[in-house]
Amino acid sequence: MKKIQTLLTKAFPKLDWQFNVELAPFTYMKIGGPADAVVVTKTVKDVTSLTSFCYQNDIPVTILGGASNVIVDDKGVKGVVIRIANESVEQLEHDSTFTIVRAGAGVKMAPLVAKTVEMGLTGLEYFLGVPGTVGGAIYNNAHYLSDLIGEHVAAVHVVSKDGKIAWIAVKNCAFAYEHSRFQKTGEIILEVNFRLKTGSKKESQEKIKHATEYRAKTQPLGIPSSGCIFQNVKNTEKLKKTFPDFADKPHVPGGYIIDQAGLKSTKVGGIQVSTKHAAWFENDGTGTSDDVKKLIKKVKDTVKSKFDVELHEEVFFVK
Ligand SMILES: Cc1cc2nc3c(=O)[nH]c(=O)nc-3n(C[C@H](O)[C@H](O)[C@H](O)COP(=O)(O)OP(=O)(O)OC[C@H]3O[C@@H](n4cnc5c(N)ncnc54)[C@H](O)[C@@H]3O)c2cc1C
Repeated sequence: MKKIQTLLTKAFPKLDWQFNVELAPFTYMKIGGPADAVVVTKTVKDVTSLTSFCYQNDIPVTILGGASNVIVDDKGVKGVVIRIANESVEQLEHDSTFTIVRAGAGVKMAPLVAKTVEMGLTGLEYFLGVPGTVGGAIYNNAHYLSDLIGEHVAAVHVVSKDGKIAWIAVKNCAFAYEHSRFQKTGEIILEVNFRLKTGSKKESQEKIKHATEYRAKTQPLGIPSSGCIFQNVKNTEKLKKTFPDFADKPHVPGGYIIDQAGLKSTKVGGIQVSTKHAAWFENDGTGTSDDVKKLIKKVKDTVKSKFDVELHEEVFFVK
């Protein structure tokens, strides 16, 4: 620990280091033990030089954006936690159909959406309520109902673990529901080129209003959580018979299945299945990552035995 501290502060004296820091306060779920080192990086250069240095010195690196989609282990995290916070947003070239907007991976979705609407562009409005950063949203291909953020991307600027920098065209990003190539490659997302159409500010504001009202009605906002713990479930002929309300949809909502299994308000320690949205877990302030894991197991086992359905986690575990 002392060795890492000396190495890092000597190599990067200008960065704002914190050592042996509890991660829980940074996370939306308010869970997580100490990290050896935490640093907030504001520029692409800081991220690339720091990750190369850590790679060469065998120091483990963990990337966090807004920490709104993670469960950080109670035992904490070894090595360096890099919080990505490059927040630039700039309008680049455009043709008759699309304008390219380049966003730093650390910009939060809400200010990015507000800026693109202000520029008279449309496409990202439904993501205003996603609390994390652009990097986190691309990593998981964030969604609002059936709208996936990857559908609005032209290319993603990344650095690989060993320091290679590249632009990945959208066709090579392997975007699918809850999936992108970055989950497999471990590449760090530095910047994203979005491909947006010219829109009407009034229509964009209507879309934002509609999505904000829908979220407030269906999600337990304001309570520590990580959003949906579970993914929606791909529909099958068998599921269409069990859940006919969703027979014409590609997925059955995970929350609906959990609700049908009678699991709303089930609690382990300080973590409870939300009564408002059953795919969400709420932390009453005393919850631990162990409680989350036990509750996940309970929900999965019950849903499997009642409906023969395998649930998959949407959140990422950090340790
Ligand atoms: C109240 C609430 C509402 C939510 N609503 C939605 C919603 O409508 N739709 C939706 O899809 N999700 C939603 N979520 C989940 C979450 O906000 C999104 O998945 C969000 O995009 C995560 O971004 P983040 O920056 O917080 O990522 P983090 O939680 O910081 O990280 C998540 C994962 O992404 C990786 N990662 C983050 N940044 C980078 C990067 N720059 N390069 C490489 N990897 C990176 C991390 O290592 C980690 O594995 C919600 C969560 C909450 C708490």
